[in-house]
Amino acid sequence: MNPHILTLMVLAVLGGSLSYCNEIAKPCDPEKCLPPNCRCSGDNRPPGGLMPKNTPQTILVSFDDDVEKQYMDFYDQLFDGVRNPNNCPAVGTLFVSHNYTNYYLVEDAYSRGYEIADHTVTHQEPTTYWEYANFTVWKNEIRGQREILHRFANLPYDAIKGFRAPFLMFTENMYKVLFEAKFTYDLSWPLNIKFNGESPIGPMYPYTFDYISKQICPTVEEPCPKMSYPGLWEIPNVNIMNSDHSPCASMMDGCNPSGNASVWYEILLRNFHYHYDTNRTPFGMLMHPSYFYHGPAGDHLKAARKFLKYAESLGDVWILTASQVIDWMQDPQSIEKAKSFPPWQCPSRPPPRCSSSTANSCHYTEPRDFYMTTCTECPKRFPSPTDPDGN
Ligand SMILES: [Zn+2]
Repeated sequence: MNPHILTLMVLAVLGGSLSYCNEIAKPCDPEKCLPPNCRCSGDNRPPGGLMPKNTPQTILVSFDDDVEKQYMDFYDQLFDGVRNPNNCPAVGTLFVSHNYTNYYLVEDAYSRGYEIADHTVTHQEPTTYWEYANFTVWKNEIRGQREILHRFANLPYDAIKGFRAPFLMFTENMYKVLFEAKFTYDLSWPLNIKFNGESPIGPMYPYTFDYISKQICPTVEEPCPKMSYPGLWEIPNVNIMNSDHSPCASMMDGCNPSGNASVWYEILLRNFHYHYDTNRTPFGMLMHPSYFYHGPAGDHLKAARKFLKYAESLGDVWILTASQVIDWMQDPQSIEKAKSFPPWQCPSRPPPRCSSSTANSCHYTEPRDFYMTTCTECPKRFPSPTDPDGN
């Protein structure tokens, strides 16, 4: 047989089982890596040639894990009455995992402007499950959760654009799945900041995986991506620092849990100004619901609300979803033009298909006791990575 034909046959077989076929990422070539869909990593300059003083400051507030009534109440209280410079309400992003999630609340949150992103089906422990997960495990966990959100919260598939790895255990196989499933961005890779208070340049902006990432691998064993994933964005998970400038944690709830309202207001101001006074990279307020339960009762909510009201008062700060931040990275607008930027306008979305009183409460005893609330009919089985429809 002609060796050429043989090669083609082998490729066809491989292609059938693995629609993904990429190359080792090369160092970024700024001449070739151009907007809207490519940006080199390690770049701390605002996009589009903007000077920091003309760059709108964005704040990205995100909440992880299952969506339940008591958590959603905290999120809504946090944003209540906080507005963006174009008078649209401040919004956030929910990274939703499946177990214990109330899909009626997800559907309702989406209708009110929240972004819904994927945080896997099972979010299970131990963390080594994710570290060693092969392509198929990641595929079922990521695509499965997108299917569940589509089916039980009625979300359009293309509304689910972002992902965060459980325990921030990102791996090469995870990025392969995100790329293949056409996700827009990932927000899992922690970026430690080294703030000395003197001549800070600010952290790196979001970038794409067309070329090799310059972001530092958290540990030597961590399988940081080596392949090229054209057009897939990383929003660096910029770690926050404590009020004395020492590195604190990847997420807000991991930092100074006993701090009272004034300690926490100070922490937020300090971290925010590290972005606002330097290069205006997006400022992430990334948290689990536990943030609201820490410290003296109600203090952490009070501090975060006071901070958002302060940010609102500055007049050039936008509190947006993660995908709205990427929309802007792809088509950067100055402070002046931001108010009429279409992706930053108030969304108009259909209301949920049911109410909290008419939603179905589905009960399962397998694989263990689970309740699942949804406007959709209860599926026969509790949805899982290999059976997201619950058939
Ligand atoms: Zn999580």
